[in-house]
Amino acid sequence: MTQFKSIGVVGSGQMGAGIAQVAAHAGYSVLLADISLAAASAGKQKIASGLNKLVEKNKLDASARDALLERITPVGELEALAACEVVIEAATENVELKKQLFTRLDAACPQASILATNTSSISITTIAAQTKRPERVVGMHFMNPVPLMQLVEIIRGLATTDSVYQATVALAKAMGKTVITSNDAPGFLVNRILIPLINEACFVLQEGVGSAEDIDAGARLGLNHPMGPLALADLIGLDTCLAIAEVLHRDLGDDKYRPATILRNHVAAGWLGRKSGRGFYSYETKKS
Ligand code: NAD
Repeated sequence: MTQFKSIGVVGSGQMGAGIAQVAAHAGYSVLLADISLAAASAGKQKIASGLNKLVEKNKLDASARDALLERITPVGELEALAACEVVIEAATENVELKKQLFTRLDAACPQASILATNTSSISITTIAAQTKRPERVVGMHFMNPVPLMQLVEIIRGLATTDSVYQATVALAKAMGKTVITSNDAPGFLVNRILIPLINEACFVLQEGVGSAEDIDAGARLGLNHPMGPLALADLIGLDTCLAIAEVLHRDLGDDKYRPATILRNHVAAGWLGRKSGRGFYSYETKKS
């Protein structure tokens, strides 16, 4: 544990729910906010379903599950996070939305609170500039699925102080994670590498070079990647992949980062990957 006791999480989708779970597992009290109390409660329910499966497989005690869930309180209002010493924002990847959220969080939370964002690609410095405490804003980029993935990428905005950076590193470590540090550049470290790979796989698919299955098998069996890029894109969410690709293209100003049309079309069709039941693959039968 760190000096912090209570952590707020904004957004209870796949990342926010995972962050809330890992924070509660580490012993923190977590307030989980979404656009409504119903949405936040659905996020907590998703966490409970995942933990139930671990209990069924004897990987977690029922009492540990209950204690963990007890530490997570869903809330319907961002302003309910006023008492949190750290807030980790994990709402939809959209710059205007994140700007609004940080303006509201800045007004709601005490000046001493750290405001972190799990953004995959949006400038931490831009988000921080929406607040009156840019020195206390930091990027805390978890990987998906949060409970399983070891890494947290910590991103320092232009104004982030050493003490806020150190406190965030300590928090990530207390949550059982290994940290890498990135400066504030488009896509940071991980997505600067990953998204061009996914986007190139999309180009290979749209040009008919090979099937989705063969593209993914090529990466798994030929490159020793645990997942193929198209299956990974479906896991991340194609809307999130497109949003990151657009940031890389715009902010690096190089056409080599232009998003593939097939990626745009999938997002336009609402085929967002696992979370919508269909992406480059179909997940309809697996939806509960
Ligand atoms: P998601 O679509 O699963 O969840 C987004 C959540 O944000 C939804 O529950 C939505 O209701 C909520 N939300 C939207 N507007 C809100 C508001 N005004 N107030 C509160 N909540 C609001 O998306 P996700 O995959 O969990 O991604 C969330 C963030 O994490 C994004 O910034 C994304 O770039 C980042 N991220 C995603 C991945 C990934 O693999 N999906 C990995 C690392 C980081």
